[in-house]
Amino acid sequence: MSSAPTIELLPPLVANRIAAGEVVERPASVVKELVENSIDAGATSVVIEVEAAGRRLIAVDDDGDGMHPIDAERALLRHATSKIRRAEDLQQIASHGFRGEALPSIASVGRLRLHTCPRGGGEGSEVRVDDQGNSHLRPAAARRGTRVEVRDLFRNTPARLRFLRSKRTEEAAIVEHVRALALAHPSLAITLRLDGRTRIEYRSEEEDRRVASVLGDDFARNSHHQSHTHRGVRIDAWLGLPTLHHRDGSRIWLLVNGRAIRDRMLLAALRAAYRDVLFHDRYPIAVIQIHIDPALVDVNVHPAKREVRFSDPATVRAALIGCVHAALERMGRRGSDTTAQAALAAMRPSAAPVSEHPAPHHTTPRPQQRPGSSGGLGRLLFSPPSTASPAPVDEVREVPAASPGNAPCADGEADLGGEEECDFGLPLAQIHRRYLLTQVTDGILLIDQHAAHERIRYERFKAQMRQASVTSQQLLTPVRWQPQPELAAWLHDHPDALAPFGIGLRAVDDVCFVIDRIPSLLGHLPPEELAEEVASALRLGNEEDRLGAALERLLADRACKRAITSGQMLDHEAQRALLQEMARCPNIAQCNHGRPTWIKLTLDDLDRLFGRKG
Ligand code: ADP
Ligand code: MG
Repeated sequence: MSSAPTIELLPPLVANRIAAGEVVERPASVVKELVENSIDAGATSVVIEVEAAGRRLIAVDDDGDGMHPIDAERALLRHATSKIRRAEDLQQIASHGFRGEALPSIASVGRLRLHTCPRGGGEGSEVRVDDQGNSHLRPAAARRGTRVEVRDLFRNTPARLRFLRSKRTEEAAIVEHVRALALAHPSLAITLRLDGRTRIEYRSEEEDRRVASVLGDDFARNSHHQSHTHRGVRIDAWLGLPTLHHRDGSRIWLLVNGRAIRDRMLLAALRAAYRDVLFHDRYPIAVIQIHIDPALVDVNVHPAKREVRFSDPATVRAALIGCVHAALERMGRRGSDTTAQAALAAMRPSAAPVSEHPAPHHTTPRPQQRPGSSGGLGRLLFSPPSTASPAPVDEVREVPAASPGNAPCADGEADLGGEEECDFGLPLAQIHRRYLLTQVTDGILLIDQHAAHERIRYERFKAQMRQASVTSQQLLTPVRWQPQPELAAWLHDHPDALAPFGIGLRAVDDVCFVIDRIPSLLGHLPPEELAEEVASALRLGNEEDRLGAALERLLADRACKRAITSGQMLDHEAQRALLQEMARCPNIAQCNHGRPTWIKLTLDDLDRLFGRKG
């Protein structure tokens, strides 16, 4: 007798449960699949009810097209869908769904009930699925749209139950999925109730409004909406100011044709585009909508459709980087108003709103807090100079207010305008050899002298690089350099690659080179290290990102080393010169590491601080 195993076709319930393994990872996946079905059915409004983080109940009620009784029953069969018909349709998917897997999968791991009625009048029907996976159809009351309920999720799949995280974590995942869907579909009204309490309530609204509803008004005020098209790929992005950042990528939404996805390549591109202006280990906050011909993107690569594959990823990447660069150019001179708000909060003597203490009679806030207890700025401004640093404060001069019109932030916004030059006001004093205090028409600016100069140097150097007009200096003793074999091979193929960067390079033989020039601005660097960084960055980088990550980081760090330091005394002329350079410098609102270079306090802010205004 043969011992070879026999092969059997799996019963539908088992097959569905296997599919559920991929599609229904956790309660949030059920919410996502059901809401996507409502969206595909043309709903204008959905109400989601969740109990016990989805383990007891997930119900999605919509006002979409609904279904005829026969379709309601069919919808629960595997590979049953109304969204595609032929294999070719897979190349042009415009709906969320197309796999015909979600409902049967969900029904195999939870108790599913569906109540629906076709739009335009027709019979209402109800379908229930029993534990064996059989569905039972019966007539039901007419209604608008469809309601799908899932109870006792994962009751028969203990392995899944064990993997569920805490109630709060699962609820948070549900909220995240709903927020992503909401960003993709601003005109859809969405309500989410967790254990009877309304957690999310979005009305149908314009895109900009929806972004503000989902990410908050702080983000709306401190971000820039930029549209950008590159070779048929349109990017619509809401990009946070660089001074607004987050510890991880969880505040970055990537949507491709209305589908929230994860994509390491795009995330890396986004970070690369921000690299110049953000702390190295921080992430920007952004909503990125990518609109692309559906034929150029394969959405059938992930069972939960969380990933997509672009037929031309480089174009999408270039479009995204172009979009961010365009936005940064416009935002470069804006400081986020949250910085000023944080500064104000740090300076307030108590947490209570100032307006509730009508004009106290001391004119100087008292620096009596424990050292190090309050925010940095308050301490710096108001603590008595320590004996360790004599910290001379320059004589405060009487200066006329900057003339109106060219003052930064004349409109009261923390916006220094786009391209045009801006005015950082007239220097009043240098404080603790670290900050400059200047007066502008409607308030004062505090400027971090080191951060500002660092940015100026970096931008100058980048501009030189871009124009391939880097001032270079001849090395007195040329340096021999033996790069890694692949790099050496690449340099032989691209003998002039380093020239635009002010690096003079000659091949001695197959493996060895001589460096005889390096950029003056980077004259203090070991030439081999510099050549290595630039060459590797060029070899790995592509057209849009020529300098590459390593190079920019290197430049940022080096530019930083030579900048005016904190602790350096600046006389009135030097202060004035710095302010003038700042006025011409792009991206001046942040230093190369993403810290703000200046903070503005308006007269209003100051009045509020002193209790003159509520
Ligand atoms: P898919 O969405 O991939 O087609 P599903 O299993 O999610 O597969 O749904 C199967 C079918 O059931 C859908 O194609 C659609 O025709 C129908 N359907 C599901 N949910 C709804 C709904 N809320 N309103 C109307 N029709 C629905
Ligand atoms: Mg579906």
